[in-house]
Amino acid sequence: MIFREFLSQISDAFFPRICLACSRVLPSGRPEFFCADCFCRINFLHGSLCPVCGITFPDSSAGNHLCGSCTKQPRWFDFARAAVVYEGIILDTIHRFKYGRDLTAGAALAGLLADFDFDGVDFSAFDAMIPVPLHVQRLRERRFNQSLVLAHALGKKRGVTVDFSLLKRQRFTLTQTGLNKSERDTNISGAFAANRLDKIRGRSFLLVDDVYTTGATINECAKTLVKAGAKRVAALTVARVL
Ligand SMILES: [Zn+2]
Ligand SMILES: [Zn+2]
Repeated sequence: MIFREFLSQISDAFFPRICLACSRVLPSGRPEFFCADCFCRINFLHGSLCPVCGITFPDSSAGNHLCGSCTKQPRWFDFARAAVVYEGIILDTIHRFKYGRDLTAGAALAGLLADFDFDGVDFSAFDAMIPVPLHVQRLRERRFNQSLVLAHALGKKRGVTVDFSLLKRQRFTLTQTGLNKSERDTNISGAFAANRLDKIRGRSFLLVDDVYTTGATINECAKTLVKAGAKRVAALTVARVL
């Protein structure tokens, strides 16, 4: 037994790790955050999808095809993909992380994002990852940017630099929660500004965020970067509303 494993077992004996969803004690020395039963209830996104916004079509035999929304409204990003459905255990875990400042919940979500097999995503094609920025007022309230925590984990795993200096939230916006699609578009319009244009022009970026709901925030970030000269913008999130 190596020394680190020994320390981990001592630590588990005194401070047993518990499942984030059901509080059951987890087996010692294992890196999981959920028990096997709760992990089975997490709905990972696979199968046919819209190649742009990443919404899945679980009952479709037609393969990948544009969804109605992306057919009507062209997006500024190339594609958006998510690891899991925003519901149940995942919804609770994201709320604990964002609003309860539960960093263990954050580590669980970062692990889900970093370990997910984003089929067809070539990470080497991107120059940097950009976490969706918070306004300084929101950052003061929350004390951390959840997207930056997620981007660090994903960037480390995939070997892509994280650069949070290229995009700023210049306008404070009300929370998007409870707004419909057109209200979200209006609320977020003009909220971001590009920074250091020499580092943006001709380069490709992966935006990182916790949840994709209607895509309004991701689209506004992508628009800001593309208008500043970015060659290509795509987005990865932990969860997606279906
Ligand atoms: Zn559990
Ligand atoms: Zn779509």
